[in-house]
Order: sequence, then C-alpha cells, then structure tokens
Amino acid sequence: MDIDFDSQHIWHPYSAMPAQSKPLPVVSAEGVYIKLADGRRLIDGMSSWWACIHGYNHPVLNAAIQKQLADMAHVMFGGLTHEPAISLAKKLVDITAEPLQHVFFADSGSVGVEVAMKMAAQYCFEQGQHAKNRFLTFRQGYHGDTFGAMSVCDPVTGMHHKFSRLLNQHIFIESPRCGFHETWQAHYVDELEQQLADHHEEIIAVIFEPVVQGAGGMNFYHANYLKAARELCDRYGVLLIFDEIATGFGRTGEMFAYQHAQVIPDILVLGKALTGGYMTLSAVLTNAQIAQGIQEPFMHGPTFMANPLACAVANASVELLLNDGWQINIKRIERQLKQELTRCSELGPIKSVRVLGAIGVVEFNQAPDWSVVQNYLVADGVWLRPFKNLLYTMPPYIINEQQLTYLTDSIYKTLSQL
Ligand SMILES: *Cc1c(COP(=O)(O)O)cnc(C)c1O
Repeated sequence: MDIDFDSQHIWHPYSAMPAQSKPLPVVSAEGVYIKLADGRRLIDGMSSWWACIHGYNHPVLNAAIQKQLADMAHVMFGGLTHEPAISLAKKLVDITAEPLQHVFFADSGSVGVEVAMKMAAQYCFEQGQHAKNRFLTFRQGYHGDTFGAMSVCDPVTGMHHKFSRLLNQHIFIESPRCGFHETWQAHYVDELEQQLADHHEEIIAVIFEPVVQGAGGMNFYHANYLKAARELCDRYGVLLIFDEIATGFGRTGEMFAYQHAQVIPDILVLGKALTGGYMTLSAVLTNAQIAQGIQEPFMHGPTFMANPLACAVANASVELLLNDGWQINIKRIERQLKQELTRCSELGPIKSVRVLGAIGVVEFNQAPDWSVVQNYLVADGVWLRPFKNLLYTMPPYIINEQQLTYLTDSIYKTLSQL
C-alpha cells in the first residue's frame, strides 16, 4: 500500500496535510478484529466510531447487501420508491416511541442534523412564528461537521471555533453536570428555564444528545434533564430535538437513550449504528404535528436519499439487533467494563472512570501523550482512538468475554506504563 501517497495527498478526519502521523494500513476486518497489512490483528474497541455494532464482515449483513445489489444498487427517491426504504421506515416507526411516525432518510449524521433543524424551522415559519430564528443547546455537545450542525456544537472546546464568524449565533447553556447516577437537584435546570422564559419567542427548538454527550466529552448525565427539557419546551412552545446518532440502537443500555427518562422528542435523529457500520445513512423521525404542520414541500432531497443498499443493510442490522438479545449483551458488557476498568482509577492522574451501557471511559486530569499511548495499544493488538483527556471504548456488541478482558487489560497495562 502506498502510505506515502496517502500521507501526502489524502485527508483523514481532523488532520493536516501532509499528515503528522502515518495511518495504519487495513486489509480486512472480521468480527471484532481489524487486520493490518503486515498481518497483525487489532481488537477494535471503537466499533469504527459507534457504528459497527455487530462486528465486521457479518454474514447476515453481507448477504443483505449482496441480495440488494443483484436487484439495484441505487435509484433516485424523487417520484420513485422501493421495498428497502419502506421496510426500514416501518421498522424505525415500530421501534421508536409511538408518536414518531414520519421518516426522512438522509446521507449521514451531520446531514440528518441539518434536516432536523430545517424541519423544525420550516414548521415554525409555516405556523407564522416569524420571530423564531435560533436554537438552544448544551455546551460540550457534538452534532456533526456541516455548518448547521457545527453551529450547535460546543462553541469553545468544539472543533469549530475557527468558523464562528460564519455560524449563526445560537443559545448555549451550561452542559449537564449532574452525572447519570448522581443525586438530582431541581436547580440543575434553572439556566434552561431562565433562557426559555427569556427567549422562547426566538427559539425554534432545543437540540441535544440525550444522556450521553459523545464527541464533546463523553459526559454521562442524569435522565431528569430530559424530563425537565420536555416539560419546559411544552410550557414555552418550543420544539425538542434529540440527536441519538451515537446513542441509538442499544449503546447506553436502552434501545434509545430517551427511554432512560421515557421522554419523547418532537424530532429524533438516528445514524451511525443504523446500518451496522456498513454504509452511511441517517434517519430523521418526527410526529404528525410537525409532519402535517409543514404543508408546503419540505425543502430537502439529497441525491442518494434512501439509498437501497444502505436501507437493505440497515434492515438486516436492526433485525439482527432485535433477534440477538441485545439488552442482555449490553448488560454483560457493562458489568464487565465496570469490573475491569474501575482499577484504572488507582493509576495516578485519573479524574474518573465511568461506564454506561457498552461505553467505558477513563478521563485524565491532563491528557498524556496520546501517540505514546496509541503505540503501546497497537503493539499490544488493540485499536482505540483517545481524544482530549479521554481514553474510551465502545466495543462491538458481539465482543466476547475474553476479547473484552484482553481489551481492558491492555488499557490497564498501557496506563500503568505511563
Ligand atoms: C457522529 C455524530 C454526528 C455526525 O454524524 P456523521 O455521520 O459523522 O456526519 C452527529 N451527532 C452525533 C451525536 C454524533 O455522534
């Protein structure tokens, strides 16, 4: 593989040109393992960024794509439709909360967030709420890299402060600081209440990641924030959008993170694990009030909308998840992560070790040299991608007990050597 060409000519996520460090060449992947060109195998502790929940090269998912490929890889969705899109929409309507009955398929998580924001905005405009022109969100959020999504990412620590001059100015409130298992106090939502009281006439919607703030800092927070947000949004006539692109499909221990609070958003965005990590696809679901409240055409329609290959593999992935006793699996991973990662907190400059569902996080007071950490891990046969002051794992759900122990041992050993 021409790695030098790669480093000189191809951008990788969040990297400079030429690349500061060389990417590892991958030739194949199977189950929880990524195979490198030199023959080494790495256990993937990242699920390729939350997506690859059933592991790589899964026979059922492969077959679903192959079957669809024999019929058609793609056809435009304007004026045409197909079975993979209809079955997938039915499934999503079925497994999400009852009011979420209408589905928009978009190309990626970021575009799904754009669609959700546009949907909420067009709804408000058509209701004659012309003063509404802003969104409200928590700090430390992450919603994607396109402009609309960027505008609701954390304005300071996010990756997008460089573009702040080009972004619409939305309202940011303190990120949720009551942990998932900590004791709830009503004053935690004072700022949310105050901002909604002061600005509800300008606010289209409140948008956030329920229960787990992912790329913004792996913050696991109390489900009562969701309840409070729902109540306050109802009181002040503001829509509520949940970005479950990372948390959806079982990752936090519930099928969707909003189920920790039994709170239903007006708009729900799904992505990442939707296709089992095979292809890019997102889905935006909403209720009848919004779907029917938008009477003019909804102005969005990507070229590859509802791509049949992506819908076919998403159908297979959702079915696999439902038939696989997913909740028992997540509980098993959660228990094991708790047992095996907790000891990392004895290792000196660690701020906290926390686990929720199939997510394990080791947070440092100060970030160590991650390139050193990553070299140790790779030499040991483990693939993780730490960022900020966080070393974290969200393994594929099919990881077995031994493989997970190998992963957590490797984390412990690596941190002991720092
Ligand atoms: C990854 C992510 C996105 C962006 O999705 P892409 O498919 O990378 O565009 C948006 N929101 C959340 C919560 C995410 O984790």
